[in-house]
Amino acid sequence: MKKGKGKLLYMAVSAIICLFLSYAIFSHVFTMSHINEGKIIKRPLPRPKQQESQHKHTERKRTSYDFQMFFSSPQKLTAQQKIKYIVNGAKKQDIRILLPANLIYEEPLIKIKKIRISQKDAKYKLQEGYLDIFFLQDLKEGEEVVLFIEFEVDISRGKERFGKTKNMILLTNWYPVVAPFNEKQGDWCTFSPSRFGDPYFYESVHFSGYFLINKEWQVVSPLLTKNKEHDNKYNIYFFATKEPVRDLTFVVGKNFKCETIQKDNLEIAYYYVSPRRDIIRRAQDVLAFYEEIYGKYGLDKFLLVDVPLQNFWGTEYSGMVFLSTLKTVGARTIAHEIGHQYWYYAVGTDQLNEPWIDESLATYSSLLYLEQLYGSAYYENEIASLKKFNKSYGLGALSVYKTNKEYKDATYRRACLFWDYIRKLQGKAKLYQVLQKIQKDYKDRILYHNDLIKIINEEYKGDVTKEILDKLYATK
Ligand SMILES: [Zn+2]
Repeated sequence: MKKGKGKLLYMAVSAIICLFLSYAIFSHVFTMSHINEGKIIKRPLPRPKQQESQHKHTERKRTSYDFQMFFSSPQKLTAQQKIKYIVNGAKKQDIRILLPANLIYEEPLIKIKKIRISQKDAKYKLQEGYLDIFFLQDLKEGEEVVLFIEFEVDISRGKERFGKTKNMILLTNWYPVVAPFNEKQGDWCTFSPSRFGDPYFYESVHFSGYFLINKEWQVVSPLLTKNKEHDNKYNIYFFATKEPVRDLTFVVGKNFKCETIQKDNLEIAYYYVSPRRDIIRRAQDVLAFYEEIYGKYGLDKFLLVDVPLQNFWGTEYSGMVFLSTLKTVGARTIAHEIGHQYWYYAVGTDQLNEPWIDESLATYSSLLYLEQLYGSAYYENEIASLKKFNKSYGLGALSVYKTNKEYKDATYRRACLFWDYIRKLQGKAKLYQVLQKIQKDYKDRILYHNDLIKIINEEYKGDVTKEILDKLYATK
């Protein structure tokens, strides 16, 4: 009890100090209103307007998230978010908001403190891993629902890909998010925990906001805008999307060094503590190769960040990849992770139920890159070695695989052969044409298994996929 009260007092005091300091610092630039229940800045700081999309004329209205964030204690991030949800397919009486980190790690890492809903007569029910909001009437297509959520994120966990290590904080899957809606099943998707793989996926949306942070920390994200404000002690980092992205991920670190390359309108940046690895030129080469095959990369920044990951070589986010400092990262890993900029970020997939799609495509993309580097004999040799992997695991949901090895053998290795079998039907040029078409038609959307199979069978004029899947996996 005492501990809880002390903690509350500490939080309140630190929030007030933080608010006072930021007020004192920025009052000449910004107007801030009063403290809202002693916790958080009530009114958003004025910030640059969301940047103009290059495709605005063709873009439909998308859901957007606006954040105000700061560390209220060394172990806690405090945030206020405004979600403008645009109904897209989910013409139901409810909206599901997921608390991703809670679902993935089965711990109450995101704690909701306050909720306000723009529509009258809305009720909500807060569960451990999600929040269901109920309305009196069905929501209409294109309707806008505005939600204000105040929440805290416990970052003390030090968990891989989420939490805090000595000089680094990884903020992944850290905020309440409207669940992806599966139109064919007519229901909201919910995440479930997994010891391996990526048990989450997101719709493409817009993000904006600011992050107030002590100057000793440096915030890294591909969405940061140039106008950072500062004084002796604090920085305010602003962020905003030009094009929709799937996730808002930050790395917060001390002592980061940065190496950059600028070519045309794209900046590639590599953040490392030490030692610097020979990574950035390779990344540039890989990205240029994929742009030839799949089309233009979606953002004007691409970041590679060295982080200490135990069980992963790398992981992908929108506009950014984490590369493990505990592993040797070569061309194959870099090419796989950058492949996800097309098959995860641009074209999304259901990574819980159909993880084979983005993983096989990222792996196959890396193989295409290595083929260009080392020649066709290398490619064929790789394909032959993939055929040796166990074929009994099948194409399943993440939850059907018992171990990381089973999961990887099935979704990275055997499933990668799917694309080689397709290529052997009518050659590489035809395969590239089909993959380009999918990139174009499904950009900023989610590509489900059945849609993918349908496209391929249409493009190859026949039921070509059945025979290929039979060859890939032993049917019982
Ligand atoms: Zn992958």
